[in-house]
Amino acid sequence: MRKLDSKKALVLFSGGQDSSIALAWALERYDNVETIGFAYGQRHGVELEARKNVRRAMADTFPQWGAKLVADTIADARGLKELGETAMTHETEIALAGDGLPTTFVPGRNLVFLTLAGGLAYRRGVRALVAGMCEADFSGYPDCRETALQAQLQALRLGMNADFSLETPLMHIDKAESWRLAERMGGDKLVSLINEHSHTCYKGVRETRHDWGYGCGECPACELRAKGWAAYRAA
Ligand code: ZN
Repeated sequence: MRKLDSKKALVLFSGGQDSSIALAWALERYDNVETIGFAYGQRHGVELEARKNVRRAMADTFPQWGAKLVADTIADARGLKELGETAMTHETEIALAGDGLPTTFVPGRNLVFLTLAGGLAYRRGVRALVAGMCEADFSGYPDCRETALQAQLQALRLGMNADFSLETPLMHIDKAESWRLAERMGGDKLVSLINEHSHTCYKGVRETRHDWGYGCGECPACELRAKGWAAYRAA
């Protein structure tokens, strides 16, 4: 089995709140941190802009992290949009579908993302794949669950014959607890830069600023983010 470098990490970084906290977590632990993002025809394309702003703000505010933060890659995953309609990629109503999952569910999305990330990590000799998925406080997507992600890790290890690890530091903590994790790592400075620059809203709204960040305030992603922020501030 190919030995990969355990001091290097590749963060699956969407520019959202969770993956921004996961990026900070990786910058605390590894010597060399790359990021990868995915263009899959998401309605909230501003996410891709948010990624650059979060990266820049983290590197400027925490120079010790800036020194370790290296390449950023955007991988094309638009095949996910071509496969069919979801509310994440099309102007379809955001609602609960017949299968009990929200219409924002993009089947296979995280599995494709991990596969592409594994392909890049293999080339770069990076061992740790770091991702912000969370099953404690999420929208019910089955590919955010630890069992699905660990199975995918095994597939990558076998399929590339390489000793990848998968780190999901937010898996078992809720949104309020993940803000507390950010606070422990980088104090109020980190919390406010993630709050300001990360993007969560499914509809891509950046014109309205709330205490919890930018967004429409009504979509499920905004609701979850607002609720988590309120719980964090109340404690
Ligand atoms: Zn929203």
